[in-house]
Amino acid sequence: SSPSNRLKSQKDFMATVTDAQPEVVLSNDEILRYSRHLIMPEVAMDGQRKLKAAKVLCIGAGGLGSPLALYLTAAGVGTLGLVDYDVVDYTNLQRQIIHSTNDVGRKKLDSASDKLKALNPFLNLRTFDMKLTSANALDLFREFDIVADGTDNFPTRYLVNDACVLTGKPNVYGSIFRFEGQASVFATEEGPCYRCLYPEPPPPGLVPSCAEGGVLGIMPGLVGVIQATETIKLILGQGDSLAGRLLLIDALGLKFRELKLRKNPDCPVCGTHRTITQLIDYDQFCGIRGQEEPAGNDIPAISVEDLKKKLDAKADVFILDVREPHEYQICNLRGYLIPVGDIPKRASELDSSREIVAHCKVGGRSAKAVNFLRRAGFTKVYNLTGGINAWADRIDPKMPKY
Ligand code: ZN
Repeated sequence: SSPSNRLKSQKDFMATVTDAQPEVVLSNDEILRYSRHLIMPEVAMDGQRKLKAAKVLCIGAGGLGSPLALYLTAAGVGTLGLVDYDVVDYTNLQRQIIHSTNDVGRKKLDSASDKLKALNPFLNLRTFDMKLTSANALDLFREFDIVADGTDNFPTRYLVNDACVLTGKPNVYGSIFRFEGQASVFATEEGPCYRCLYPEPPPPGLVPSCAEGGVLGIMPGLVGVIQATETIKLILGQGDSLAGRLLLIDALGLKFRELKLRKNPDCPVCGTHRTITQLIDYDQFCGIRGQEEPAGNDIPAISVEDLKKKLDAKADVFILDVREPHEYQICNLRGYLIPVGDIPKRASELDSSREIVAHCKVGGRSAKAVNFLRRAGFTKVYNLTGGINAWADRIDPKMPKY
């Protein structure tokens, strides 16, 4: 179908915004700044005025939020909301390109504000230094036209989706993991929502986070720019949006595929018999509540200081490293390597008469290993509290951290 035909089938919902604000005009400086937009018939003065009138809320100033905020700001989106309460960490810099080395330790909102204001002084930037919750999401979303989801966890992703459905705001979605990415536009008037696709979250712990599983640094760039593209198309009312389609990106094979998505009539939040009519407890829904310390307090543990003392005293301590081989290559305590997933089938390699100290990166996986071994009859196995990162922090500052 021709672009004009496609346009007719897509609701130009920004028309109401510009109609309501006929006073939106561009200064001569803005006309010069956006000249490469203004000479395209699909944007032109009318489209640039729509961009200026638009209010986009970006959830998160991290990996996806970096290119989203930068490109939307450069493009002339008039009002950009940014929600984030995090601080720039050194390990963010590999992909969160809105932040610089000098920003480590600063609030992500402060760091992002500096970059965005420097990029485009015409931007009306609204920062929200808070965690998005069921208590604040609806009021916040009502103040914007479009929500761009740059979150990296399931509770917030479901919260953003439900709040978008309940407030009638399009949800420009993206997610990334390792070499893979996904993007779509959810919760448009006729299109499906995230819950039409995934009614239930995966069991906690089944899907590793970027911090656990890693992510190629360019992936948020690739997916975030797609989200920015979709946001701008929605504002302009141009082209075919990703509503009703899930774009699947495989960077390793460099393949783009797409799945047709349909509105699910049984969807609990946007279907015909809705069971969710207000925001819920998303941590509980995703099974996160109470899981922050999977180690628990009942698992026998040893501190890095006590382990150091034992090793210095040449005590008979067997160090069991339950990380993955590629983590062992980064740093190790010369322990015996059995990845946590292999412990059940390889436990026979261990001598239950010896004192065993199990460790991983920060203590979560090794707690699971200790738990398993205790149940299997090992009585002298202990979890190294804080993992090898605690060892690097408090015993061996020369050891690399990751
Ligand atoms: Zn739905």
